[in-house]
Amino acid sequence: MAEYEKPLPRAEDPALTQPFWDAARRHELVIPRCSKCNEYFWYPRQACPNCLQEDSKWTQVSGKASLHTFTVVRQAQNPAFSDDIPYAFAMVRLDEGVSMISNIVECEIPGDIAVDMRLEVVFDDATEDWTLVKFKPA
Ligand SMILES: [Zn+2]
Repeated sequence: MAEYEKPLPRAEDPALTQPFWDAARRHELVIPRCSKCNEYFWYPRQACPNCLQEDSKWTQVSGKASLHTFTVVRQAQNPAFSDDIPYAFAMVRLDEGVSMISNIVECEIPGDIAVDMRLEVVFDDATEDWTLVKFKPA
């Protein structure tokens, strides 16, 4: 478990995203899925972006993904991440069809990462009550 001495940034609207964070704590990846049209969507929001219905359920997904794009961060903008540089700030495309921003970990940055590489989810227990969703090479 990583321990950060400086404040770790947290989500701005934990009420809307609380089921995501609760699942991450259990080391499960969940995303909203519309109860009417069955489309997954990300980011979390009140209405389905496909059909505008306000009836979605948090649904566990496979955690399998591909790397859509990334940049390598070499200067930490927040001191909480100083020990992590260089790190990969990435847009990951889940096999369920949605994209999310995350980090690529458990490999050499940047040498081991490339667009379209296969990934799988990992869970970083950053603090006692806060688990981050990240991805590693599959
Ligand atoms: Zn829908």
